[in-house]
Amino acid sequence: MSEKQREDVVVVESVNGYFSYHLAYPGNKTKALCGSKTLMMPTKVPTAAWGCETHLGESYCRACEVSVGLTPSAKRVVFCVDDVRKLSLTAVDGFVPPNQCEAQQPGLDEMRRISSYLLARPVSVRLFRGGRDGFIAAYGPVGVVFNADVIPAAWFRMPLKEPQIALLLHELAHETTYNHEAPQYRRALSLLGARLALAFWSGAL
Ligand SMILES: [Zn+2]
Ligand SMILES: [Zn+2]
Repeated sequence: MSEKQREDVVVVESVNGYFSYHLAYPGNKTKALCGSKTLMMPTKVPTAAWGCETHLGESYCRACEVSVGLTPSAKRVVFCVDDVRKLSLTAVDGFVPPNQCEAQQPGLDEMRRISSYLLARPVSVRLFRGGRDGFIAAYGPVGVVFNADVIPAAWFRMPLKEPQIALLLHELAHETTYNHEAPQYRRALSLLGARLALAFWSGAL
């Protein structure tokens, strides 16, 4: 494949869920290079960002990648501001009122139930208007917040799947520290995972 052809491909979204990507030619976006069907939805992801991972749990089709000889971006971008206190807005102003998040509510309720069990105290899980270029999720004294300007409503659809639980656990582990590199953060993540598994096995959740 020539450099020109490689430049021509665009990133398209898989029919298998959000943040799951293939490559396609602009003239035929319904079919990925690997043959998979894709969503007609346009994606804002540039080819240069192919391979970037954030808290949303993106996945990229290896078959498409190989067929076009694309080198995934070396960047593993985690654009999150976890500490709610770092947000420039006052938290109270940015919360999405309950009547504007009906689609997300069942998912948020389930995450609140899980969070409150895992931290053994009531934990609030809410939507926040953080701007399109802002964070994805955050954690702080006000609880867990998800940025409604970045995450589509359908992402919260029940039943919750791996990316949703993974992001929730990531935020809850910040109960110990905001430093992703700290040993106590990694320990908290493992413990939360174990506690969650045991809760389901024992029927406590
Ligand atoms: Zn593919
Ligand atoms: Zn984090």
